[in-house]
Amino acid sequence: MSARISADFDAGNIRVVAAQGDRFDLEIVADGGSDFYQWFYFRLTGAAGRPIELRILNGAGSAYPLGWPGYSARISADRVHWRLAETEYRDGVLTIRPTPESDTLWIAYFAPYSMERHHDLVARISARPGVSYRSLGLTLDGQEMDCLTLGEGGKQVWLYARQHPGETMAEWWMEGALEKLTDPHDPAARALRRAATFHIVPNMNPDGSRRGHLRTNAAGVNLNREWHAPTPERSPEVLAVRNRMDETGVDFAMDVHGDEAIPYVFVAGFEGIPNWTDQQGALYLRYRETLARRSPDFQIEHGYAVARPGSANLTMSTNQVANRFGAVSMTLEMPFKDNDGLPDPEFGWSAERSMRMGADCIGALHEIIGEL
Ligand code: ZN
Repeated sequence: MSARISADFDAGNIRVVAAQGDRFDLEIVADGGSDFYQWFYFRLTGAAGRPIELRILNGAGSAYPLGWPGYSARISADRVHWRLAETEYRDGVLTIRPTPESDTLWIAYFAPYSMERHHDLVARISARPGVSYRSLGLTLDGQEMDCLTLGEGGKQVWLYARQHPGETMAEWWMEGALEKLTDPHDPAARALRRAATFHIVPNMNPDGSRRGHLRTNAAGVNLNREWHAPTPERSPEVLAVRNRMDETGVDFAMDVHGDEAIPYVFVAGFEGIPNWTDQQGALYLRYRETLARRSPDFQIEHGYAVARPGSANLTMSTNQVANRFGAVSMTLEMPFKDNDGLPDPEFGWSAERSMRMGADCIGALHEIIGEL
């Protein structure tokens, strides 16, 4: 049987440029309407027991070429467990060398989180006691903007993920956070549900997710540069969520992402917003330190440079939400590579670790909720 590659499925992304026996030359397809690309996800069939060479030729022009050195692709035979594959980056070419054990192998930038799994998650969680479902509107492709609400308390907490659809670890994080928050036997979750009302958008960018995009929606727009002035034509996803935030107010917000280059888990805050208060800033630092104490997968040493006073980019959600509502607001970044402080040579950073991080973030929130 000859080997074949295909990607015409939910979130699939690859183009076959040339195939010669068990060696394939490939390209990642750019997000429709934009130049961004880095997410890939495809299926290899008919190659059981043979060493295969997969060469992604257009690595150098990707959104984050610094994401490739030290990176390993994820492969799965059962679509449940995603292991690191032998991967090399040289001269702009990312070469992946798997030897499939069976005649179907799945290869991806990171453990995928399909829209079908998203629907499973929303169906499962929204059926639990005390959880209510609300559609905040429609995307450009006509998908619902799903929002789950739970808790009875006065503090307004917003959690939202996957503005950048290729950052699938963000929705794995959501699964961990939602499972903890809806666990009837979890004392921190019970206390949080008394103190706060949670508004949770597990996927901010369903269209980009289904289309196999890295960074943009169906119009090729980066949603995390739209928060100052979202429009129905370019960014209805942001408009729908921000309008609902205007109705509820926001005391605490977390925007969940993945970072291509930095091999650590970290948060970025809202330094530099015009309406900055020292109390808001102090609570952000408290939260960060609390999370670092609770999880060896989180740290505060490595991360992004901090904005100077008055120089915050208000097109980004974390800054806009902190400035607009006075919220303690942050962007959580998890790696595509691994946490170099606690590496796992078999799985790297994984769906499972992202879920644990989601649960740990909820635990840390319990420690500071009384001060918000
Ligand atoms: Zn991102």
